[in-house]
Amino acid sequence: MALIVQKYGGTSVGNPDRIKSVAARVARCRARGDQVVVVVSAMSGVTDNLIKLAKEIMPLPSEREMDVLLATGEQTTIALTAMALHALNMPAVSLTGAQAGILTDGVHTKAKIQNITPAQVHKLLDGGNVVIVAGFQGQTLEGQITTLGRGGSDLTAVALASALKADLCQIYTDVDGVYTADPRLVPNALKLEEISYDEMLELAGLGAKVMQSRSVEFAKKFGVVFEVRSSLNDNPGTLVKEETANMESVVIRGVSLDKNQAKITLAHVPDKPGVAARIFKAVGDAAINVDMIVQTASHGASGATDISFTLDKPDLLKARKVLDGIQGEVGFREVIADEKIGKLSIVGVGMRSHTGVAARMFESLANAGVNIDMISTSEIKLSVVIDLAKGEQALKTVHAAFLG
Ligand code: ADP
Ligand code: ASP
Ligand code: MG
Repeated sequence: MALIVQKYGGTSVGNPDRIKSVAARVARCRARGDQVVVVVSAMSGVTDNLIKLAKEIMPLPSEREMDVLLATGEQTTIALTAMALHALNMPAVSLTGAQAGILTDGVHTKAKIQNITPAQVHKLLDGGNVVIVAGFQGQTLEGQITTLGRGGSDLTAVALASALKADLCQIYTDVDGVYTADPRLVPNALKLEEISYDEMLELAGLGAKVMQSRSVEFAKKFGVVFEVRSSLNDNPGTLVKEETANMESVVIRGVSLDKNQAKITLAHVPDKPGVAARIFKAVGDAAINVDMIVQTASHGASGATDISFTLDKPDLLKARKVLDGIQGEVGFREVIADEKIGKLSIVGVGMRSHTGVAARMFESLANAGVNIDMISTSEIKLSVVIDLAKGEQALKTVHAAFLG
């Protein structure tokens, strides 16, 4: 008898029929004698709609109240999924994040899991029940409802699998697994049999929303092997696990396009010690994540440079406000914002041991007439900033150059 944690995303529980087919799949596992813990997301579109509703009341709602609101999405799905199992004569009990013992810090809308005490889950499993846990939510020590950031049901599943010492952790979604690129943008992308935590982490952080980044970080830290697979068929999915020796023989595992980035350029920044520190201290203090930074050479006698950096698009307004506030003190001439950029990245642990990768990527972009605006590299990834309008075409071109 195995203990299996299965997570079903929004599309997989998107309507009553889908919920019934989730229940049927769970029932088949139970019939084989396995114990099953099911983690569910809100039905597709529900979280987005709740956010929209809140913003119609006020533009920047209290984050505590946002969590109270958003947690209702998953609470709806756990009850419906339990009912669908009851309809199959299968004992099942739904639990909120708090009831499942998921304790978080108090950072509303992006809380971190601090501890899981799944005593209740174990007790219900031992009683012969399927246990259905609301994804994406937890509770602070003081009893406040929290949520774990968008896509956070992935994290609930991985963390529960770790706390329960589950034999299997399966992430059921609306594609057959992790592909060499988003299969909706690159129709000839290939499904991967396996991928390392580090590669999955880079892809997730660079725009591949198939897994929440933080859930992959957690899985790597605690060695949780998990499988990404489809809730719509029985095809084998993609195993995400520690790197193995033969993984380096593949140069590039995947390509991704992040359309959710923006670029800020500070024009004519005085070229003297302490200026960059002052600018990025102010930006960091506002909890704005900066990714690539480029500084031009000093413009001749004026002793000024231009500094550009990328950030998440939703932080753009906040960043402008911060920079306007220090413009007088720092003495740059202008803040120029550009929302029409895309970040295109290639990822692979094989980049460590293969040369010529950058040249090949740049050449394929040049042949397609795509101009490169900024470049950044790490050991296992190479990212370029390009014109957003050419993003999808460039994604296909670079995918073809490396993954055929
Ligand atoms: P869920 O609701 O199940 O959590 P998500 O919508 O969060 O599902 O993630 C699945 C989506 O991720 C797919 O529909 C696909 O379009 C997208 N995606 C982006 N990059 C990739 C990739 N490299 N491999 C697979 N899917 C990807
Ligand atoms: N419902 C939440 C969201 O849409 C969490 C999740 O689906 O994983 O982000
Ligand atoms: Mg998701």
